[in-house]
Amino acid sequence: MALALGFSGFYIVNYVFETSLAREVGQALDESSILSFAFQTAALNVPAKYSVLPDNTVEEISANLANGGRSSGRRLIRISGEEKKVLFISDGFAAATDNELLIQTDEVTKSYRVISAKEGYYVHTCVAITALDRILYLETMRDVSEVFTERALGFSLYRRVTMIMLAAGTVIMHFISSVLTKPIRLLTRATKRMAAGDYSYRAKCVSRDELGQLTRDFNHMANALEENIDKLEQEIEAKEEFMGAFAHELKTPLTAIIGYADMLRSHKLDEEKSFMSANYIYTEGKRLEALAFRLLDIIVAKRDEVQMQEVSTEDIFAYLQDMFADGRGMVFYFDYDKDVVLAETNLIKTVLVNLIDNACKASEPGSEIDVYGYTVEGGYCFGIKDYGIGIPEQEQHKITKAFYMVDKSRSRSKNGAGLGLALCVEILKIHGSELQIESEPGEGSFISFVLPRQEGYTNEK
Ligand code: ADP
Repeated sequence: MALALGFSGFYIVNYVFETSLAREVGQALDESSILSFAFQTAALNVPAKYSVLPDNTVEEISANLANGGRSSGRRLIRISGEEKKVLFISDGFAAATDNELLIQTDEVTKSYRVISAKEGYYVHTCVAITALDRILYLETMRDVSEVFTERALGFSLYRRVTMIMLAAGTVIMHFISSVLTKPIRLLTRATKRMAAGDYSYRAKCVSRDELGQLTRDFNHMANALEENIDKLEQEIEAKEEFMGAFAHELKTPLTAIIGYADMLRSHKLDEEKSFMSANYIYTEGKRLEALAFRLLDIIVAKRDEVQMQEVSTEDIFAYLQDMFADGRGMVFYFDYDKDVVLAETNLIKTVLVNLIDNACKASEPGSEIDVYGYTVEGGYCFGIKDYGIGIPEQEQHKITKAFYMVDKSRSRSKNGAGLGLALCVEILKIHGSELQIESEPGEGSFISFVLPRQEGYTNEK
């Protein structure tokens, strides 16, 4: 822009200069014509006794022409004779020493040039005058220094404007580029922070254009990344917790087994004590075996490779009624809607048996346990209600974790290891369902889950 302005400025100033100079030249030539006409007229008015125009008369007329007609100073003229011999020269005629134009001019040509002298710039004209019997040469000098000064002023003005434009342009471009590249700088900072491990850092969105969109997409990606990292961290934590709890669960039966085995091998025990020790070893061994089976069940359930079938709820409830036919010291009440659900039969039966088992363990002998099954919008709901000890609210979200038991000694005394609900959660996950726990300590619990109806599945109620 500055260059374009500089060039166009140069062009405009030069154009104005050339027009002004041409105008001045025109005026100088006009003035020269007027003067030569005036000279000729004055020569004609010379008294008739002179048949020739003597040099002193030429000088006289010239002096009159040089002095007259002008309010502001004298005219700069020079009159030369036939041999180009100078007859009159006004004071300050700058080209006095240079006769080039005079030599070039003949009787018919009218010539001019622009010259620079010490005092300034002039348009120098030369023309031949025929006066009486003589041919004389009239030279004029017109001061055009102002045109040159104006040109110099114009150039200097445009130089200054160009410099100001350059400076202002630099500042403005710097500002614009810093505004335009700000989203990129913020994005770069965000990537560096994230690369350094600060996954919660987000790039600030400062524009609505494509770069703004890029920043928003970057932040979405960062959100997804952070979520995945959080999930991985939680999984690692859960695994560590699981390992710790598992080791702890192994320790208790193993300590008992080792203790009793040591007693058997190092002491001579009577028959009753030997039997008791062997019995402890057997029951604790059985607990370990049950623990191993449960863990295996969880691992298998996590593999996700199960075959879903259509199962009638009648079959499921018939199985449960058979399973708990002995009553286990409780009063069972089964109530269900006939329907068909899509499930892996054995796994769903495992879930229900576990939940009913838990309800039995939590209740006093003789309590009522209700097992419900009813069709709901979007699926089929199974629910187990007991009137036992209940679960405190702050414990409700923990009981589905592996090895978690609200009351460890009570659960262990009932052969629990805190794995039942963890297994249920894994199985239900495969079925696209989850456990709902409603419980009031001292009043009992209602634990339920809904098996969602699959698309294209028809309800045969
Ligand atoms: P387990 O029954 O083998 O101890 P679970 O994972 O089935 O393990 O249950 C975890 C814990 O949740 C139990 O130890 C018990 O404290 C609590 N719990 C589960 N179901 C009930 C219930 N119906 N009423 C009260 N507490 C329950």
